[in-house]
Formats: sequence, C-alpha cells, structure tokens
Amino acid sequence: MKREFTDILIIGAGPSGMVSAGYLQQHNVQLKVVEKQQFPRFSIGESLIPRCMDNFAEAGLLEIIEKHGFQKKFGARFIKDDKVGEFDFSQKFGEGWDWTWQVPRADFDHVLAKEIQSRGVDIAFETEVTAADFSNENPVVTIQHKDGKQSEIEAKFVIDSSGFGRVLPKLLDLEQASTLESHSSVFTHIEETIRPQGKEGELITFEVLETQVWFWYIPFSNGKTSLGFVAPTEWFDQFDKDPEVSFMQMISKLNYYKGRFDNYPLEFIPKNIKHIAKSVKCLYGDKFALTGNSAEFLDPVFSSGVSFATESGLRAAKLALKELNGEQPDWQADYADYMKEGIAVFSSYVRDWYNGDLQDIFFHKSPNPEFKRQICAVLAGYVWNMDNPFVKKHERIIGAVAKFIQLEN
Ligand code: FAD
Repeated sequence: MKREFTDILIIGAGPSGMVSAGYLQQHNVQLKVVEKQQFPRFSIGESLIPRCMDNFAEAGLLEIIEKHGFQKKFGARFIKDDKVGEFDFSQKFGEGWDWTWQVPRADFDHVLAKEIQSRGVDIAFETEVTAADFSNENPVVTIQHKDGKQSEIEAKFVIDSSGFGRVLPKLLDLEQASTLESHSSVFTHIEETIRPQGKEGELITFEVLETQVWFWYIPFSNGKTSLGFVAPTEWFDQFDKDPEVSFMQMISKLNYYKGRFDNYPLEFIPKNIKHIAKSVKCLYGDKFALTGNSAEFLDPVFSSGVSFATESGLRAAKLALKELNGEQPDWQADYADYMKEGIAVFSSYVRDWYNGDLQDIFFHKSPNPEFKRQICAVLAGYVWNMDNPFVKKHERIIGAVAKFIQLEN
C-alpha cells in the first residue's frame, strides 16, 4: 500500500485541529491534516466564549476570523418565565477577553481551514482515517480516499481532533462513559427578516423551560439564527414523529420565544444528537494526543466546546512540538492534569445547572455583584484562574450559595 511520511498528522479540520495546525505551521513543522468531509460542512457549536480568543490568537488565526465580520457576542442571557439573569463579559472577574463571536460553523470552520491551507499546510478533504497501528516506532494510520482507495501515513506524532468521529478512542478502545447525565439535542436555523432592536443580537439567550430542559437563541451576522433544545433524551418522545412539526411543537411550549418564529420556514430539517456527553480513559498515549470532542464533551449549556477544543488543540501542539525537538514533555502534568482541571470546573457547573442550584443563583432577584462577576469569568471560559473562588471552590460553592437563596424563599 502506498505510504507517505509526515512529522505530525492531525485527524480532523475542525477548530481544534486548525488551532493545532496554526501553531505548528508557525513553527515550521511538517504537517498533514486528514479530514473526512468536504468543507464547508455543517457543524454545531456556534456560540463561542471569550477564552477561545486567546487560543485563536496564539495559533495566528484571530485576524483572519476578524476579517469575516462574524456576529460579536458580549454576554449571555438566561430567561425563565418572568425572571432574567444576564451576564456581561466586560464585568467579569479577572483578566481576559470581554467578547467573542457567534458563528455559523460551516462558514467559520471553512475560513480557518482555507487560511491554514493558504499557509502551505496539506489538508486532504474527503479522506477518512479507518485504522491506526501504534505497535511500531512510528504510528501508521490507514486512510480511505474519496474514490475508495486506501493508503497509509506514517507520522512521528498523531493529534486526534476528529470531534464526535472519535477516531482513536474507538480504534484504541479508549472510550469511557461520561459521569455526567447525558442529554440530547435538536436544532435548526431560521432566517429572521425582522430582528428586534436591542442587544439580543449580541448575546446568546437561554430560555429555561424546565430545570433540565432549555432552548438556545443564537443570532448570526448573516441574518440567520440558530435555535435548539437540550433536554433529557426521553423528553423529546412526547412530540410528533415529523421533526419539523415536533420542533414547532417544542417552540410553542416556550414562554418568551413562543410565536416569535411562526412565520419563518426552518432552513433545514431539524438535526438531532443523542446522548451528548462523551469521555475517554486517557487524554494522551505514546505518540498521540486526543483533543476537542475526540477527548471529552460535557454539555452544550455553557458553550464551552470550542474553547475546550482550541485549548486542548493548542496545548497538544505545543507538547508535540517539544517531543519532535527531542525533549520529553510531561504530558500528564502539562496536558492531562491541566485539561482535567478545566473539565472539572465546567463539570461542576453543568451538574449544578441541571440540579437547579445554578439557576437559583442566576435568577435571584438581587444577585451578589461580586459573585456574579466571578461566575461571569467562568462563563467566559477562564476556568484556570485560581484567584477566582468560583473556580477554586467549584465543587461546593454553587451549592452553598444556592442553599442561602433557597432558605430565603
Ligand atoms: P469538530 O468541529 O467536530 O471537527 C472534527 C472534524 O473531524 C470534523 O470535520 C469531522 O468531519 C472530522 N472527522 C471525523 N472523523 C474523521 C475520520 N475518521 N477521519 C478524518 N476526519 C474525521 N460548543 C461551543 O463552543 N458553543 C456552543 O454553542 C456549542 N453548542 C453545542 C450544541 C450541541 C447540541 C452540541 C452537541 C455541541 C455543542 N458545542 C458547542 C460543542 C462543539 O460542537 C464542539 O465542542 C466543537 O465543535 C469541537 O470541535 P472539534 O474541532 O473537536 O471537532
């Protein structure tokens, strides 16, 4: 079988893979990216959080994104019946970006991939990784081309950023059940010809229907808006079998957004993803690292996916470069432990969102301003700042604050 050689092979051209590629290309590393689909392609994960701006900047991708005029996002709004909790990233505790973007991912991911290609990186689209052999000195990966033919790539290191494709977790038996309750999601886009004035266009809005059931409203600068529901899988069973009919039935259950989209055709038949949470037994191994959704995915509720994907993509690229240069990076401390710290913080927030404690804090009529600033920093993705008590004491602090609020009622 034909075999080609590269120093680093990246599987998947989503944001995680493109941040790895951007960083490594800046350091003149010989690279190859293999991507199963042709771009542009649909992907979910459209509302970014500020922390990912740092990662795009370090990968040299911020300027090209900026040129494309994506919708700026300055915060998040949570609505339940007549209660509203709003977070403005500029008010957050500590350092960091005050804004980010909300992006149709087909366009966004295409912009990133085109930029990486224009810098000379070889991206093979419509090429799927089907097997991997780590038993020799260098890993050898089998790829299947669009025409069905197969060939091999030998690399010194493999970064698996294949998203929900989870190539190496599947091939190397690294998959593990998530400890989080697994939810499912249904989503589509509409084109709003009349958007209400005001700042709704610069926020993500969450409407909470039940403690475990919520809806997202994510406006884009191209006039389209992303709408979606996240809920326990069985919640979706009560609706019509036809996905378009059932989506409108779900919308009619909302209080704030009910009726708002009645005159807009759905841009595509609603898509669904079941049992969203994913985990793995380990985040790295000999000559490979797992990044982004190929490593871990918690829940859409805090829009942390792309930030986590780019954070891990950047970290893995830095350590892989060291390894290539003959150093012996500490993958456990500098990759797995670091990433797990961030995952643990967001996991506490996801848990405390779905048990209602965080919602009690968000919807409190006179929230403590300092707590709010500190929580806002977490929502912006700054989950490694140990000066923030809502990071440092993430396991207990939300429950403790919620208890006080519950005693008031
Ligand atoms: P992806 O962007 O999925 O890219 C992986 C790429 O790998 C794909 O292009 C795929 O084609 C390719 N690939 C797969 N298999 C193979 C193979 N065998 N060979 C070669 N290539 C392969 N995140 C946010 O930040 N904000 C949000 O608002 C948000 N909302 C979400 C809502 C839902 C319902 C869900 C499920 C997730 C949401 N996320 C959100 C998470 C977000 O979608 C992901 O975290 C993010 O896209 C991960 O990026 P990635 O680069 O790891 O993977």
